[in-house]
Amino acid sequence: MRLRTTKSNNEAYGLLPVEDFVGLLTHRLRLRVSYTRLSVYEDCPKKYHFTYILSDREPPSEAMLLGSAVHSALETWMAEQGEDEDELLDIFSAAVARYRTEGEISGEEEETARHMLLDYYSQVDMPRERETVIAVEQPFSIIIGGLEVIGFIDRLNLSTVGEGSDSCTVLNIIDYKSGRSSITQAKAKTNRQLAIYTLAAREMYPGMNHYSSHFVYPRLNKTISYTFSTEELNNHIREIKKIGKDIRADNSFRPKGSPMQCAYCGHVRKCGYGKIQAKKWIGILRKRGTEIPEHLAFL
Ligand code: SF4
Repeated sequence: MRLRTTKSNNEAYGLLPVEDFVGLLTHRLRLRVSYTRLSVYEDCPKKYHFTYILSDREPPSEAMLLGSAVHSALETWMAEQGEDEDELLDIFSAAVARYRTEGEISGEEEETARHMLLDYYSQVDMPRERETVIAVEQPFSIIIGGLEVIGFIDRLNLSTVGEGSDSCTVLNIIDYKSGRSSITQAKAKTNRQLAIYTLAAREMYPGMNHYSSHFVYPRLNKTISYTFSTEELNNHIREIKKIGKDIRADNSFRPKGSPMQCAYCGHVRKCGYGKIQAKKWIGILRKRGTEIPEHLAFL
């Protein structure tokens, strides 16, 4: 007997509703990922499905809005060949005003971002000795195992180390992190974002002697730097290909969030599994005597 693929049959067998397959097919045919998309899929395939296949984006957080305002300001300032820091800060204030229409950005966070921008400006304006800024806000699109990987690199600096025939060129790949915590030096070699940026920089700017990647944390006054070996990059390429293959083959996008993850996921209201996990998180908070966040009051 042939099973008719109706919506109810599909749901009963844990598959996506029939109509969602059209969106899924289109998504697979032009699969394009970024570091964030790969991480979202690994954390929870259902969240990936909500966000990137149904295009049902979570409301942006304050950190996301501020990050977008910073990137937008830098992009405009560079495109308009802005002259000084005052101009950069004016453009930033206008960008913050625009993004405030999408959600809350506190004065305190705006002030922190202004300091970060000034730090950025001082480094763009006064590159380290023998170091030249060759690109800022550099978009990239590279193919890894038939998978298009896209993203932006905040800044690329070229430096020359040594003298005369002993000198060598180093491309410094720099990403600014606005968060309050950093990765550890020991974790740098397994960091997929740093690896993707290095792969992109090698493709866009071939022929350098070294490619060194850096996460710069202005809030913490700290930089984590790493130079990947070819073998380490190949390991990352294998992992990226595997996740791409898993996304292409996935028909069900099963939920797998943890209690805390689900409690803070923007899709929790429409995710049965997520609600159960978020209730567990509420139980954990109650045991700890911690206040329950307002956004979970619906549970
Ligand atoms: S609520 Fe939890 S299970 Fe549901 S999509 Fe979000 S992270 Fe995944």
